[in-house]
Amino acid sequence: MIVRVLTLFPEMFKNTLGTSILQRAREKALLDIECINIRDYTDNKHKKVDDYPYGGGAGMVMTPQPIFDSYKAVINSLGSAINPKTIYMSPKGKPFNQQAAEALAKEDCLIFICGHYEGIDQRAIDYLVTDEISIGDYVLTGGEIPAMVVIDAVARLIPGVLSQEESYQEESFYSGLLEYPHYTRPRDFRGMEVPEVLTSGDHKKIDNWRRRKSLEITFKKRPDLLKNTKLTAKEVKIIQELKDSL
Ligand code: SAH
Repeated sequence: MIVRVLTLFPEMFKNTLGTSILQRAREKALLDIECINIRDYTDNKHKKVDDYPYGGGAGMVMTPQPIFDSYKAVINSLGSAINPKTIYMSPKGKPFNQQAAEALAKEDCLIFICGHYEGIDQRAIDYLVTDEISIGDYVLTGGEIPAMVVIDAVARLIPGVLSQEESYQEESFYSGLLEYPHYTRPRDFRGMEVPEVLTSGDHKKIDNWRRRKSLEITFKKRPDLLKNTKLTAKEVKIIQELKDSL
């Protein structure tokens, strides 16, 4: 997957994109990421990238010229065979979730535009952007952290990025439920013991325990998720029991 990030602060991405699983994905050429500094494309000699909002009000707005020109440079460098999605990170965007990450992971190329200050001139959104995405109902200082969140969530779903052992199929949200709890060595840590079933070697029992825990945790912490999850008759019964025990 090709990822291009238009930002005023490319240095913010260095560590995140150059560490751990994302770095490995880049080394395996599964991910080709580049950050482009919007400021490099300003056509004024002071390299100014923002201005006062028309109509007044607080804060500064990122001007359209360097955004349009840096975007054009990226498009030209990609060539005509590539049909990217252009994402503007914005609190006004569609709330991001695992389903959205799965859909984006199927794309060949994503271009992110990161706003800063009050955001970017609306014309850049109207003419360049295909998707506006929010990472939650709160306002951050810039789109850089949100873009990193989306890149991270999407990149780990690209086939080959996670190893077999790191597989995401059992993780929270994949099946619609939150994940079961994890334990590792030692078996007895200062008197706190690992649930016995996990050391029984009986895989059927372990699977049942994990699914039950998943149901319990989801019921307790995120009951809203249960509405969109396919459950077996036995699982529906478990949920009913949990409700009755309240
Ligand atoms: N004035 C805007 C907020 C600007 S915050 C408003 O009220 O809607 C500055 C930049 O940070 C935005 O342009 C956007 O790129 C980014 N940003 C802030 N919060 C975000 C969020 N929850 N999700 C995605 N991007 C966000």
